[in-house]
Amino acid sequence: MLTSIKGKSVIVTGGSKGIGRGIATVFARQGAKVTIAARGEDELKTAASEIEGDVRYEVCDVSDWDSVKAMVDSTAAAQGGLDIMCANAGAFPQTKMVDMDPSEWDQVLSTNLRSSFLCVKAAIPHFEKAGKGRVVLTSSITGPITGFPGWSHYGASKAGQLGFMKTAAMELSRYNTTINAVMPGNIYTEGLQDLGQDYLDTMAASIPLKRLGDVEDIGNAALFFASDEAGYITGQQVVVDGGQIIPESLEAMEEI
Ligand code: NAP
Repeated sequence: MLTSIKGKSVIVTGGSKGIGRGIATVFARQGAKVTIAARGEDELKTAASEIEGDVRYEVCDVSDWDSVKAMVDSTAAAQGGLDIMCANAGAFPQTKMVDMDPSEWDQVLSTNLRSSFLCVKAAIPHFEKAGKGRVVLTSSITGPITGFPGWSHYGASKAGQLGFMKTAAMELSRYNTTINAVMPGNIYTEGLQDLGQDYLDTMAASIPLKRLGDVEDIGNAALFFASDEAGYITGQQVVVDGGQIIPESLEAMEEI
């Protein structure tokens, strides 16, 4: 049993859909005050009204510094400070390098990696004021561990988040703040559904636990990193993938 996070002030970027919504649901269920942030106001409004608990929303583009700073400051004002930043928002368009316009590379790096830096930077003054804090990044197995055609930019951004995290862990220690990352495998989300049923079926078949992950599987890992009990863990990452990265070959899967 983890010490309660009831009343803690939490931001979840990308909380209108998918994994972010799962993280927000888990934290709100535990009694935290949660702000979900994304660009689309309609989806934010729907999610904030559907998730049970104390949930508000802020429209924000995580790749834009002014937008992130305004969202973080306004959340801290509304929720009486900031305890936990879940930098989760991300995008994964699939384009092979030969067809990729360089602007798409920049866009993905900006949404997935620059955003991690911006969210942490904006949160620092609030953690300093509180004398403590927690950051949880949503990285991926794609990039740090695996590869997939069409995701060179995505993989670079997700591995980049882990590189960023190592130095951030050192700089944040001065504010008694930890930063850790969850590395999801294939989690059933709106974003993943866009990749088509064939992709979903093939992926489920390649996972030892024989199912795609649920968004709350990631929320539970984020909750652990945000807990008092995880206070001596920083700069680390955990894979949550149903065993997907373990099989050495297709044959190994057939042996199960
Ligand atoms: P999703 O269902 O497509 O949801 C993405 C969320 O991020 C939405 O709320 C979206 O809202 C928001 N977002 C995207 N660009 C944004 C921007 N520039 N500013 C603010 N918000 C933005 O995606 P997901 O599958 O839940 O993925 C969430 C995170 O998990 C990503 O970092 C992804 O890389 C990671 N991940 C996912 C999987 C998976 O299997 N699903 C696996 C590994 C890692 P708006 O579009 O309205 O802004």
